Amino acid sequence: MAVHAHPDDESSKGAATTARYAAEGVEVLVVTCTGGERGDVLNPSFQVPEGHEFETVDGRRAVRRLEMAAAAEALGVRQTWLGFVDSGLPEGDPLPPLPEGSFGLVPLEEAAAPLVELVRRFRPHVVTTYDPSGGYPHPDHIKCHEVAFEAYHAAGDASRYVVEGGADPWEPRKLYYNHGFSMERMRAVHEAMQGAGLESPFGDWIESRAAREIPERQATTSVRVAEFFPQRDAALVAHASQIDPKGFFFAVPRDLEADVWPTEEYELADSRVPTTLPEDDLFAGLREGAR
Ligand SMILES: [Zn+2]
Repeated sequence: MAVHAHPDDESSKGAATTARYAAEGVEVLVVTCTGGERGDVLNPSFQVPEGHEFETVDGRRAVRRLEMAAAAEALGVRQTWLGFVDSGLPEGDPLPPLPEGSFGLVPLEEAAAPLVELVRRFRPHVVTTYDPSGGYPHPDHIKCHEVAFEAYHAAGDASRYVVEGGADPWEPRKLYYNHGFSMERMRAVHEAMQGAGLESPFGDWIESRAAREIPERQATTSVRVAEFFPQRDAALVAHASQIDPKGFFFAVPRDLEADVWPTEEYELADSRVPTTLPEDDLFAGLREGAR
């Protein structure tokens, strides 16, 4: 179960991993906390699909549902919505308050309840989400971490989140944080592009990240996924309102990327099964006897 904040996050964080496991026969469920209703158009070549509009919260929600369905199909995974409303990325100094009713403002117990129920029904062995910083400072990403962390720890406890007619408790075995955008990876790809005489788009990214002095978290688990870069790329392109096919995500030639960095990284945040670090498989320690 991969828990994400907005439609498109599943395609930019750990996408090739979900495609790989789905291809191997693992049941993969992407959970999207919000509808992405406050996303701006980030792709200059985006055309609003026939019969739709992108001016209102409802219009954007409908378009992003279409995009999400196409992305899930490209990855070969199932996907479901928690049903919360995108908080948008607040900008300015001081930051403006979050819009009323948005995901970032929902109290934790209320925000986690539908995910706890979903964990009890889907019964995942492995849950992935973001680290406590959210990976980047978007209120929905931080909230996404909080609800996934809460659900991972509470879903197995019959005394918590008691719902009339609810599913039996289920305790997932491992919790991971996505670390696809590590400085180490960005630097390695940046240097390889420069070495190949190509223009790298990551110089500014690396500089601004270094300037923010975000502490680097330690990846424990590196999953080989280069074979599934085409599925990841198709899923990214499916989010046509958000992803510029000529932009950042597509600047690296794929053969160079597969050569320099063929993996996606994770941090094992909790495990209820014995495992040895570093790992190369999110299901390490679960393969024998697990379904
Ligand atoms: Zn997001």
